[in-house]
Amino acid sequence: GRRPDSIGVALVGLGYYATNLLAPGLQLTRNCHLAGIVTGSPDKIPEWQRKYGIPDRNVYSYDDFDRIAGNPDIQAVYIVTPNDLHKPLALRAAAAGKHVWCEKPMAMDAAEAQEMIDACRAAGVQLAIGYRLQHQPSTLRLRAMAKEKPYGRILKVRADAGFHAYDDVDPANKPWRLLPQHGGGAMYDMGVYSLQGARYITGQEPVAVSARSGTTRPHLFEGVDETTHFTLEFADGLVAECSTSFGRNMNLLRADCERGWYQLEPFQTYNGLAGRTSDGQLFDDGGVPHQQALQMDNDALAILEGRPPLVPGEEGLRDMRVVDAVYASAREGGRRIV
Ligand code: NDP
Repeated sequence: GRRPDSIGVALVGLGYYATNLLAPGLQLTRNCHLAGIVTGSPDKIPEWQRKYGIPDRNVYSYDDFDRIAGNPDIQAVYIVTPNDLHKPLALRAAAAGKHVWCEKPMAMDAAEAQEMIDACRAAGVQLAIGYRLQHQPSTLRLRAMAKEKPYGRILKVRADAGFHAYDDVDPANKPWRLLPQHGGGAMYDMGVYSLQGARYITGQEPVAVSARSGTTRPHLFEGVDETTHFTLEFADGLVAECSTSFGRNMNLLRADCERGWYQLEPFQTYNGLAGRTSDGQLFDDGGVPHQQALQMDNDALAILEGRPPLVPGEEGLRDMRVVDAVYASAREGGRRIV
């Protein structure tokens, strides 16, 4: 059952992820519940209200969203829009005194991410990034292995995240993921999973990066990357080879060590994460029924208990610094210090 002081959440942007993962997830949570919606599509409203019992007073458009400040039913706003809107909406939510949950990638660049952190701090609200995998038992196991080093020192890391899509897109009517002004491109979308994976499997922060991008479908990918390869260098000399793509299915996170190897394949799906080691051990998610429900329950509990969330804005900012360097290196060549 739901706890009596459960956090009321408003979802902002009722697209694929909000509709199919977050709203259903919010039916399974104990520490938070779906209380409101913010949408630019009036035609979506009746079904959401009916399905989830959302009263008229908790329905907002992007124009009247700032009125949410006076709404006691809603304590947290979850931003699930195209990437260019994350920062402006986060600033408005913070100004309205609401805790901010924001999807990945956190923003368009590190400067925006810093602005979001500053705004939430000034408003005294929490800021959590939607890196659902950081809440997963299999990911926590990789973190533990980075410390315990059961196969000795890590010698090499691979992190590949991508899917093949967009063959049937009309170049005159592209979705936002193919448009630079909305934060389109594979690195922003799936590349952050490779980057996150490389960071948590090593337990280290990259110190330098070099990257190259390319496309086999130039009529679709103009000003955005279809495929990006990036090499992360860590302080102790360890290197992670990372890839991301909208042209190729890949879903592998792997560490080769002195005395063996281990991997998660897939490592970034919504369920079925599958771990294997060189000596035949298997590991999975330990029966977590719904990743997004787990994430939102954890983030709501952090609000209720007045402690920082597991994945705060600073974690999103760390990635945005590397993403900035990846894009700069891919554009201009050369190695970048992060
Ligand atoms: P969709 O395109 O399916 O949905 C985005 C929604 O944002 C739209 O339906 C719309 O909702 C709203 N929106 C507001 N302005 C615009 C605009 N100019 N163009 C298009 N849509 C607009 O995207 P997703 O749901 O797949 O992704 C949304 C965010 O969630 C992204 O940041 C993405 O990276 C992240 N995401 C994270 C995942 C994860 O596993 N953590 C998985 C999938 C996505 P409305 O009509 O209600 O205004």
